[in-house]
Amino acid sequence: MDGKLIIISAPSGCGKSTIISHIMDEGTRDLQFSISATNRSPRPGEQHGVHYYFLSDEEFKSRVAAGDFVEFEEVYPGRFYGTLRSEIESHLKSGHNIILDIDVRGGVNVKKQFGYRSLSIFIEPPSIGELRRRLEGRGTDTPEVIDQRVGRAEYELSFAPQYDCRVINDDLNTAIRETEQAIDNFITAK
Ligand code: ADP
Ligand code: 5GP
Repeated sequence: MDGKLIIISAPSGCGKSTIISHIMDEGTRDLQFSISATNRSPRPGEQHGVHYYFLSDEEFKSRVAAGDFVEFEEVYPGRFYGTLRSEIESHLKSGHNIILDIDVRGGVNVKKQFGYRSLSIFIEPPSIGELRRRLEGRGTDTPEVIDQRVGRAEYELSFAPQYDCRVINDDLNTAIRETEQAIDNFITAK
């Protein structure tokens, strides 16, 4: 039987990567992380082929033209992110489940394409103020980028009702437990 897709979306800074890393590090589920392609620069510590496939603007455009993406979005002005067909198809065909960390428009798009074979989970912050504090605390973005990400969060939060389930990341352990529960119910269902 083909594998299933778990789509996880959230405004930047809501704790999506923290939750996904925790679930992947546990290693107790049959889940492969879908490594996206992007034309943004790597942050300190990020590696090509581990966190993202970091492509030049030209490489990204030519892969779009070649039809290599299941979906792609311009998430921030001039900054493109996309799910490569090659990244997910072979895993799905061999029966493995895939977890995708993608933006709200990409999440809704993938859900439309994969329907009942996918579960979409939306991670919400307890408040916009807390979201800003977390982005500042993470220390990876300039104040301008933080403003841009917080500004976009309200738009992104308006997509939450289109997701199959919503998890508020206030207490991290509770959010991890709720996310795992939703994933387990979905991947064990026939
Ligand atoms: P995202 O992947 O959604 O952009 P991150 O996982 O990088 O977000 O989390 C943003 C910051 O918030 C990180 O510094 C992370 O350690 C912190 N964080 C995540 N979840 C919580 C939580 N429940 N309470 C407090 N801080 C959190
Ligand atoms: P970051 O720059 O913080 O790593 O990611 C910014 C945003 O891009 C996040 O919302 C993340 O979920 C989204 N993103 C990452 N990969 C993809 C992808 O393949 N497709 C889409 N549509 N969004 C992605």
